Amino acid sequence: MPATTRTMTVMVSAGLLCLAGMRPLSAQQGDLDPRITKLVAAVSEERLGAILKKLESFDTRNSLSSTTSATKGIGAARQWIFDEMKSYSPKLQVSFDTYQVLKQGRITRDVEMRNVMAILPGRSPRRIYISGHYDTVAREGGQGASNAGTAPAGANAAPADPNAPLDNLAPGVNDDGSGTALAIEMARVFSQSGIDFDATLVFMAHVGEEQGLMGAWLHAKRAVDQKIPIEAVFNNDIVGNDRGGNGIVDGATIRVYSEGPEDSPSRALARFVQRWGGRYVPSHKVRPMSRPDRFGRGGDHSAYNQLGFTAVGFRESRENFTKQHDVRDTYDGISLPYLAQNARVNAASAATLALAPPPPAVTNPRGQPAITRAPSGYDANLTWVASPGATAYRIFWREAWGPDWQHEMTVGNVTNVVLPNMQIDDFVFGVAALDANGHESFVTAYVSPPRGDSAVKTKGQ
Ligand SMILES: [Zn+2]
Repeated sequence: MPATTRTMTVMVSAGLLCLAGMRPLSAQQGDLDPRITKLVAAVSEERLGAILKKLESFDTRNSLSSTTSATKGIGAARQWIFDEMKSYSPKLQVSFDTYQVLKQGRITRDVEMRNVMAILPGRSPRRIYISGHYDTVAREGGQGASNAGTAPAGANAAPADPNAPLDNLAPGVNDDGSGTALAIEMARVFSQSGIDFDATLVFMAHVGEEQGLMGAWLHAKRAVDQKIPIEAVFNNDIVGNDRGGNGIVDGATIRVYSEGPEDSPSRALARFVQRWGGRYVPSHKVRPMSRPDRFGRGGDHSAYNQLGFTAVGFRESRENFTKQHDVRDTYDGISLPYLAQNARVNAASAATLALAPPPPAVTNPRGQPAITRAPSGYDANLTWVASPGATAYRIFWREAWGPDWQHEMTVGNVTNVVLPNMQIDDFVFGVAALDANGHESFVTAYVSPPRGDSAVKTKGQ
């Protein structure tokens, strides 16, 4: 242990452990920040509805649709999104994030693609994204026929003239007008909140999702190349409808998908959304899903994951597949109260994370988890790297069987804790960083790297 490490030894008696276990994790109202409560309350159903109606008015936002009209097609749509976000606050730096994409796969001709992004600079360059995709697609039979295995033979056929704009009707109000409207509304409430965030926030409308997560992948690749520190991505795709096509209605929950393994940063981010979204919006239940996405479906968060970034995907509680990738994906399929609740969960989670210090690193310089059994040989001895701006840390643990943290304990401004007689092989441990006002990062868990393949030599080899 380095000489500078500050240690705290905690005498955890069996009785205290028991008490900690009985304490409900979601009932610590004292942790709430009134400024975040106010920001969450600023989410407007009316504004979300107006944005969706405007997005619908472009008829299509297909990435291969017209760019010359001032009122129809993707060119008009992206300019409107740009101007709308720009109007919210001089603090927002709005830009097109532009790429020249060559003909490939579902892209039938070379095309210029533009993400629309609004940056709200924070005190540090680390970035937190709230995103949706503004492009749309509609096919004969839509997703409903595709799911039922009854898609007509020509549904995915290439257009007769690959160079002509693809201007067939594709309103995409829920897929993904809903996520786009949510991201735009977040740009408004964050930039007008008056809060000085530590992290830089980015409100992003991605392009080219329907052709294979292209806008998200290109942006993530650019971030890798330019060493832009993306800490977390909250991607929203199909989050505005609460009526399943099978008649089941659920307006009180939202699903959050994250790639594994179970203590990956993306999974930790999903738990964070459940914890902090649940505290600020207790009327809405966050349901984390231990998988990257739904079967056979994709979303932009996975493009960020592919390039090594932490990202989760928000998905509505019940889907109506007959209104996806279909001309029937119209405004009447939206529940504004439901979409607003999902926006509030995003707002609470992103604001908390953006005010907190970055999550601590828990590995030693060799990349091994900084957890030992010292000093007795039977203790849990946890070390982490001090997080800039942190004034305290919170330790979490659970039995090594189960998805949710069972215990937590706040410790001071130290970078080492010893929990006597806690068998490290039987628990998962993690640590989060706190600022002076109790804003908490997501948890970094102590995880062993995968065991390498060890070949055994035999005679004759
Ligand atoms: Zn989508």
